Amino acid sequence: MVDVEKLRRVFVEMHGDVEPRLFRAPGRVNLIGEHTDYNDGFVLPMAIEQSTFVLAAPRADRRVSVRSLNFNKTAEFDLDEAEEGKRGVWLDYVEGVARVLEREGARLTGANLMLQSDVPEGAGLSSSAALEISTGLALTSLSGVEIDPITLALAGQKAEHEYVGTKSGIMDQYTSALARKNHALLIDCRTLEAVHVPLDDSGVVIMICNSNVRHALASSEYNTRRAECERGVELLRRFLPNIKALRDVSVRELEAYEESLPEPIRQRCRHVVTENDRTLEAVEALRQKDFQKMGRLMFESHESLRADYEVSCKELDALVEIAGRIEGVLGARMTGGGFGGCTVNLVARDQVARFREIIAREYRQRTKLNADIYVAKASDGAEEIRI
Ligand code: ADP
Ligand code: MG
Repeated sequence: MVDVEKLRRVFVEMHGDVEPRLFRAPGRVNLIGEHTDYNDGFVLPMAIEQSTFVLAAPRADRRVSVRSLNFNKTAEFDLDEAEEGKRGVWLDYVEGVARVLEREGARLTGANLMLQSDVPEGAGLSSSAALEISTGLALTSLSGVEIDPITLALAGQKAEHEYVGTKSGIMDQYTSALARKNHALLIDCRTLEAVHVPLDDSGVVIMICNSNVRHALASSEYNTRRAECERGVELLRRFLPNIKALRDVSVRELEAYEESLPEPIRQRCRHVVTENDRTLEAVEALRQKDFQKMGRLMFESHESLRADYEVSCKELDALVEIAGRIEGVLGARMTGGGFGGCTVNLVARDQVARFREIIAREYRQRTKLNADIYVAKASDGAEEIRI
């Protein structure tokens, strides 16, 4: 939990008796729809309460000074000076958003920012989007620039592409900017349309388990998977000349033509095509409050990511296996790119304590590692908080 009062005391100690404004932007967890985004498909994330909080006050000049209490570091850039380009440090996310916003016509004021986040870093819960969107909202708000959440999300994504060098889809920034409390967000990654899907959580709870591992494979394998999916589309075009992405292939069509695909292309295509299908089914399940079905789809998603897409790892598999044997667990799957990071679990509300206890114990026995276990509540997207 971020202690906002403490954040404010530290801000006043550092910058004197000004009245800073407070902004927050959340991390996110993807409920289902993994590795579908770059195939023009569907994803179904929700924002979580864990967020980046930013205190912000304008300055007379055009310098932006940012202090991260997580890192105990201050870094600065000047909007009137030429950009230095990628530095390979956390400031890139903040400067990236500011530079993109200015390039697109916003005139920003200089500012003192102080931030603290309780989104774990590098765990697949998108601390990076929380950082981009919270600081982007702070800077535009201080500058009196009206910005709609979609434009802000796109600026965050561009910052990540151009200033950090991560070719991420739009899911993270969209969710952090647009999400709604007690709702998941269905995003069509082709049209960028987003629909809020009610998440009735009276009987069930979403829980996140952080495996606390991150295997080095993640980014090279990510590029390989992207290429394999593109190859799959090329090969399937012999039968389906109008397809542009795996999004355009139905499960039925894949079944008809998959024999002609070489391995591992066939497996990769099968994951993406079935995962898109599961994601749309999951939306229906949530709308009907059919959590048994939602959970089943989550287990199937994990199996598909493990066996066909091959982006899981033994720690994530252990978390899902352990969860699957606990009474009251309706579903469990890895979430995020894979090779480490977190699982997302659908758990009956009255089994939360047992879930924590069993996962903690058995995960430690099997891997010698400690899992972090959180309840995740579907929260609102980025906002200013009145203080
Ligand atoms: P994820 O988004 O899954 O958490 P990323 O690798 O995309 O992982 O982003 C993590 C990076 O974002 C960190 O290495 C750091 O550079 C930056 N970052 C996230 N939160 C903070 C923070 N509170 N203060 C400073 N930098 C942060
Ligand atoms: Mg990230």
